[in-house]
Amino acid sequence: MYDFVIIGSGVSGGLLAHHLHNAGANCVLLESGKYFRKNTFPENEADYSAQLYWGGGMEFDEKAKMVFLRSKAVGGTSIVNQCLLDRFDTVAFNDWKENSGVDYFSEEKMAPYYEKVEKHLQIHDFNEKELNNNAKKFIAGSDKCGYKWAFLHRGQINCALDKGNDCIGCLGGCYRDSKQSSLVAYIQPAEKTGLKVLSEFTVENIEHKEECVIVNGIKNGTQESVTAKKIILASGSLGSTAILLRSGFKKSLPMLGKGFSSHPQFMSFGIYDEPIDAHKGAFQTVASKDPSFRTKGFKLENVFASPISIAMLFDIYGPTHQQMMKKFRNLGCIEVAVRDEPVGEISVDRKGKLIIKKELTGQDKKRRDDGLEAVKNIMMKSGAKEVFRSGFYFGLHLMGGSSIGTGANNSVVNPEFQLHGFKNIFIADSSIFPTAPGINPSLTIMALSEKLSEQLLKK
Ligand SMILES: Cc1cc2nc3c(=O)[nH]c(=O)nc-3n(C[C@H](O)[C@H](O)[C@H](O)COP(=O)(O)OP(=O)(O)OC[C@H]3O[C@@H](n4cnc5c(N)ncnc54)[C@H](O)[C@@H]3O)c2cc1C
Repeated sequence: MYDFVIIGSGVSGGLLAHHLHNAGANCVLLESGKYFRKNTFPENEADYSAQLYWGGGMEFDEKAKMVFLRSKAVGGTSIVNQCLLDRFDTVAFNDWKENSGVDYFSEEKMAPYYEKVEKHLQIHDFNEKELNNNAKKFIAGSDKCGYKWAFLHRGQINCALDKGNDCIGCLGGCYRDSKQSSLVAYIQPAEKTGLKVLSEFTVENIEHKEECVIVNGIKNGTQESVTAKKIILASGSLGSTAILLRSGFKKSLPMLGKGFSSHPQFMSFGIYDEPIDAHKGAFQTVASKDPSFRTKGFKLENVFASPISIAMLFDIYGPTHQQMMKKFRNLGCIEVAVRDEPVGEISVDRKGKLIIKKELTGQDKKRRDDGLEAVKNIMMKSGAKEVFRSGFYFGLHLMGGSSIGTGANNSVVNPEFQLHGFKNIFIADSSIFPTAPGINPSLTIMALSEKLSEQLLKK
């Protein structure tokens, strides 16, 4: 029997497996996705969408309006994410404290855990020299409109921008091991000293016993089970919640599946006369930092994507679509990310398949529209001839479903990260978020996982 089975190898699972293994615990890390390394990541966008994402990057809400993106690979969504790392502010923590009743949600009390992560990772602050033309347009337009902006912080070692490297490629896995994914920062180092990683092991359900937990799943087409004294669910908002739902926990935990949010993102494209080449260099280096935007519940980031994704964002067809794609090099792009209300709901059907309910509320739509207005102002002031708003929207920050709180009547996990009433089942991943913070979530997922790791190791 293992001391710990960790289910999911993403932002939370990689860190926990690393720390528990290094402390001498007998651990196994289970992951549904394949094991890719820097020299085996799929080579092009079509292949990486198909191989690195759940549903080939095509997981929709039940009304097929919103797309949700999450990765299925050893390293989890940290393999495809931008690794932008931000601490939460007072606004986010006060909201969490109010909604969950958990008293350690404050900048001060979470600081030691943030520090541990920041010390372990290599974090780079972007600077003037690294701006591409898309970022320069973002800054020029923001300055003219009087909107405040700031450089982003990213987990990376050396992206070789000076040698002409384009970071957009690392949306399909970093071929330099520069991006500080869970794979690079935690899993590979722990594997060197014997951490056991079982990839392509999809967990179907868990069975709780007084002294152990049995984890049932499929590996290589056959049913397999592993048993541990304690298990940690680290399968992300959709994954961890779905495993608990499939295991029948909804009966004792009525809040299971509720409180899902996703920072809905809306992209706008500015069409400029001159080439912008938004895909070149470090393609995401600055974001809005305007206090009025924070109050209004949205943020703006200069961003871009690979050609297939950009093509899919244009909800126009035939020759009009072709004309637009011909302007690819002349497009600037800014996204609005909305701090949405946590009214989404995750459930599973009789076959265990995910059903995601996610409607935009009146408040979400107001925040979106305020953000889109600010983007239009920035683009027009920076010389765009036209602004095209994509009608599609998507969620990259999937949060909630197994939220943290002080009682089973309003939450799923207690402040010690245990499932209410089940002392040997733990979660510290994005599923425990009580509400949407409106800030990049990864650093806080890692800080919460540090806190859980410290607690488990003390015991
Ligand atoms: C394109 C993109 C860019 C992003 N950029 C940023 C960014 O710059 N900064 C930031 O903070 N956040 C970013 N995010 C979001 C961030 O990556 C996620 O919020 C974060 O990874 C969630 O961490 P997690 O540990 O909860 O889950 P994940 O990292 O998603 O890990 C969950 C793992 O569990 C596995 N799993 C799920 N179900 C099962 C099962 N049944 N059996 C076995 N394994 C299972 C999954 O395959 C996955 O590997 C981005 C996301 C995307 C998609």
